[in-house]
Amino acid sequence: MANILMVDDSRISRRVLKDMLEKHGHVVVGEATNGQEAFDCYGKINPDIVTMDITMPVMDGIESLKLIHKGYPDSKVIMVTAAGQNEKIKEAIDNGAVEFVTKPLDEEKVISAIDKVLKK
Ligand SMILES: [Mg+2]
Repeated sequence: MANILMVDDSRISRRVLKDMLEKHGHVVVGEATNGQEAFDCYGKINPDIVTMDITMPVMDGIESLKLIHKGYPDSKVIMVTAAGQNEKIKEAIDNGAVEFVTKPLDEEKVISAIDKVLKK
């Protein structure tokens, strides 16, 4: 079981992901709609895992990942990427992301990514 901060500007994406996570016993302890909010929220709730969308207004997922990873080196951020974002995936891994999953989200892949990160 993980306490998860979910970051995505799309309400539908958050709903889909939240349903998957909760179905498997995880708890969504916070939701943020952009990278700045995610960083601010992280310090307050100290989640086990962050799921981070990349394309968002105000501050994108890569910039937010950088801030979170710098401020909280033990943070575990899973990037949620869209097809064709290979460059971004590489940049995210280089900047401390621990895993990534691709949209459209596959329940099995999401849950196995979470389990993998929990074991690290
Ligand atoms: Mg987005």
